[in-house]
Formats: sequence, C-alpha cells, structure tokens
Amino acid sequence: MKLSFITHLECSYTGERYEAGHVHGLSSAGKPLLVRYDLGSLSKMLSKEAFGERADGFWRYREFLPVAKPENRITLGEVMTPLIRLSHFEKRAGVTGEIIVKDEGRLPTGSFKARGLALAVSMAKELGLNHLAMPTNGNAGAAMAAYASAAGMKTTVFCPDDTPQVNVDEIALQGGDVYRVNGLINDCGRIVGEGKEKAGWFDVSTLKEPYRIEGKKTMGLELAEQLGWELPDAIFYPTGGGTGLIGMWKAFDELEAIGWIGPKRPKMIAVQAAGCAPIVKAWEAGEEHAPLWENAWTAAAGIRVPIAVGDFLILRAVRASDGFAVAVEENDIFNARDAVAREEGLLLCPEGAATYAACRQSLEDGRISKSDRVVLFNCATGLKYPMEAKTGFVDRTKPIDYSQFK
Ligand SMILES: *Cc1c(COP(=O)(O)O)cnc(C)c1O
Repeated sequence: MKLSFITHLECSYTGERYEAGHVHGLSSAGKPLLVRYDLGSLSKMLSKEAFGERADGFWRYREFLPVAKPENRITLGEVMTPLIRLSHFEKRAGVTGEIIVKDEGRLPTGSFKARGLALAVSMAKELGLNHLAMPTNGNAGAAMAAYASAAGMKTTVFCPDDTPQVNVDEIALQGGDVYRVNGLINDCGRIVGEGKEKAGWFDVSTLKEPYRIEGKKTMGLELAEQLGWELPDAIFYPTGGGTGLIGMWKAFDELEAIGWIGPKRPKMIAVQAAGCAPIVKAWEAGEEHAPLWENAWTAAAGIRVPIAVGDFLILRAVRASDGFAVAVEENDIFNARDAVAREEGLLLCPEGAATYAACRQSLEDGRISKSDRVVLFNCATGLKYPMEAKTGFVDRTKPIDYSQFK
C-alpha cells in the first residue's frame, strides 16, 4: 500500500521542480509551491464509491493529501460541513436555481482555517519541525495553535493590535504564544519572516509553505462529492490570501485529471471588502499582480489582507473560470449578516455575509443568472465576531404587561 501519492513540488510561477520529503517554504523565485501527485496511480486505487464507507471530515480525502503516515494525521473531530439552502433569499430574488451556503463555521476552532492548518501541522510533524509561527487576523492563529498543541508543537502567533479579544484569547487558551503588533497582517508577516533564523521557528504564513493550500483544497473535493460530483455554476469566495479559491481550483483540476468530473468549472468569484480590495482592482485593470492596498480597512478581518503572495494564482483562476472579482461596501456586509440571521436563522461571519451581499448585487446586475446553482462560502462561525446588543429588559418586581410580547 502506497503511503502518499505525492511525486514532487512545483513552483507555481516558473514550474521549477522541488523534491518531496524535505522542508520547503517559497520557491527560489519567491512564489508559492504546489504539491503534485501521481494521479494515474491514485485513480487506479481509488473509486468514488470508496467514500461511502469512510468517516466524515477532510481526512477522507487522504489519497489527495501529502501526509504519508497515518499517525501524523492530526485530527480534532472534523465534520463534512453542511450545504444550507437560503430559501427566503431565493424566493425574494426570484431565483429558480439554488443559493446554497457551505457553512465552514462547523469545523474545529470554528473556521475553515482548520482545513489548512491541520495539513500544515501534520506535514510539519512528518518533516520533524517543532516550532511554528504565523501572522494572523485571528482564525488561522487559532487553528494553528489548536492543531499544533494536539501534535505537541510550539506555536508563536502575531496579530494586528485591533484583533478581537476573543480571537487572541482562544489562541492563548489553545496553547499558542500570542502577540499583538501595532500594524496590519503584512507587518506581522514581516516579523515572522525576519525571525526565522533568530527565533528558529518555521513560517506557516498563507502560501509561504506548500501544505495549507492542500488542506483548503478539500473544500473543492468535499463540495464536488456533496453535489454528486457535479460542480455548481458559481462559487462566491471571500478572498484574503486566496488559499481557498486557489485550492478549490487545484482540486477541480485533479478531479478532472482522474476523470471524476468533466471540464465544466464554476465561475470563481473573488469577493472583497471595499476598504481592502487589491484583487478587485487588479482584476478590473487586467493586471497579473495586485500591489499593496494602502490603509486597508474592514471589520471582516479574514479578508483584510492588503497584499497576497498568491495574487497571480487567484487572478488566473478567476479569469480562467470566466468569473469576476467584486467589492462589497462595509454597511452592505453587515446588513447582509443581519438579514440572513433574521430571515434564514443562520448567523454568518462578516466575510460570509460579504459573499451574500456580492451574490445579491450580481443577481441584480445580471452577472449571475437566476437559474444558476450558486455556492456561498461562510468561512467561520458568526459567534466569533462582535455583535450589537439588542436585548429587551423585564423588571420582575413590577407587574408585567404580557400584551407587549404578542
Ligand atoms: C482566512 C479567512 C478568509 C480568507 O481566506 P483565504 O483563503 O485566505 O482567502 C475569509 N474568511 C474568514 C473568516 C477567514 O478566516
């Protein structure tokens, strides 16, 4: 029995080959490395039917993943995240297709960062690393700390100083050493990069090591399986570093290579906040790269990423899929969150709410057809984010007027 189908790694920009089984960061060109597999052998040993008997969670796709030894697969009880139809929205917008939320908030540590970090930590374990560091807007740091603690590894985490207290606390409680930095995530990233030699940690920043994307890739595999190996017409993805969008795109290519799906692809739609939209700007200008967005601001912290090392990969996938990149105003994000919670009973994170707002916009301007099957990614539980207090009050010592509750 083959332990892993990994053959080598490849620079996503130059195609230069790198050997598997060694610790890698970025390529010599300073670009992300992508993992390549022997998909021919994989397809001979695995059939779609095999999944019927497997436990839930992304480790069911282990043949598509780089971890060789079962004991290195760190698990915290992952689930297959549900697909939830937004029937009220569908009705109001006159949609004859489907609007579906894939609710990633059900994963360990409450966000889809669990997928990427489970893989990064498991591979770090397999390669003998013992101290990991990263910059984070919150969710990635929490997932890294949790999986690394489970694996018996030390973690050091740097986050912008306005990161919500709940995120800082969960990182610390799950065993991470966490520091606030007076700057944005790219400033935190510089500290992690500079400290590599001096502090002796391994840099687990988005796309600066090759395995987080392999974890995020499982969103594409899982979505395909849940929809009967039939991809939707459009995917709205809240885009920060873009790992998930790039990862799903890679998953679809791998599934086509083994003949489980055809060449049809969803429109890949990169959703950003108007206060931090470098990918939207580059897409509109027809550029290959997206320069630093100055004075980035949005309360949707997961997509407050002013510069992304995988910018060209996001833009390539968006263009190749005939998709687009779209920015959403800050008040539309929070109006969307409130509307979905009130009407559908689903508390989205602001980043997930941004995809809803973008979808509504795109249905109105005709970029998305009313007959399309659309998937929106809700990447984290809404419970991790600050909420406005809306409680009433009852004084139990006075007569209560029950007519007020009717
Ligand atoms: C990290 C994060 C994102 C952005 O994901 P990328 O794949 O890095 O673009 C979006 N939403 C939330 C809640 C996140 O934590």
